[in-house]
Amino acid sequence: MNKGKSDMEDRSRQLLAAHVKKARTLLGQFLDNHGVRLPVLGKAMEEFTSGVFELPEEAACKAGCAYCCHLRVGVSIPELLVIFYELRAQTTPEGLAYFRDRIAGTEAKGNTLTEAFWHTAQAPCPFLNRQGRCLIYAIRPFSCRAYHSTDVAVCKQGYEEKCEVRVPCFPLYRATTDMYSSVFIKVLAEKGFPSYQVGFVKGLDLLFKDDSLSGRWLEKKDVFGRAKL
Ligand code: SF4
Repeated sequence: MNKGKSDMEDRSRQLLAAHVKKARTLLGQFLDNHGVRLPVLGKAMEEFTSGVFELPEEAACKAGCAYCCHLRVGVSIPELLVIFYELRAQTTPEGLAYFRDRIAGTEAKGNTLTEAFWHTAQAPCPFLNRQGRCLIYAIRPFSCRAYHSTDVAVCKQGYEEKCEVRVPCFPLYRATTDMYSSVFIKVLAEKGFPSYQVGFVKGLDLLFKDDSLSGRWLEKKDVFGRAKL
């Protein structure tokens, strides 16, 4: 690797580290000031979401292309709780029953915590509609916002051949967008909450079956171990 390129990469890493540090400090202070409650976590997620950059126009991703919505999605527990909370607040009882059943149906197909399941099952995310659109686009997880490709042929190959492929992307975009999830994990762990990455579908399935998990986690009980990635 030539020196100019490696200097640029070192500088990029420094900039990203500074960005992460700032986000951790801001989230920590925000939670210190307002307490760790669902509406507060929702507000923090909203603030982070507004900090996500627009996907570069050179990305190959287009509305209706959804190969990546057949891959495993990992989320922090605050993201999981906020999405579940918003889903319940914004969806009709019939709509909620539809999502609950789709999530349970996906869970019934195999172990959704493994990458192998998603690579081989060609199972759509329970929030993907027939037109390849995300039904919770405005509140989707950070990893969904971060994921993108500069070559749709590679995504298609992974889906059709049921194998793991190395999807080309803009690394700094992906890292800066994806970091919000890990910032949530680290800050909540520092505050004494059981905090780790969980499988999105498995976590929602647990919540649909027992919505007391949300309140118990906010009391620092470790109730999401079965969804841990
Ligand atoms: S939440 Fe939306 S963007 Fe994320 S995998 Fe599911 S359908 Fe795709």
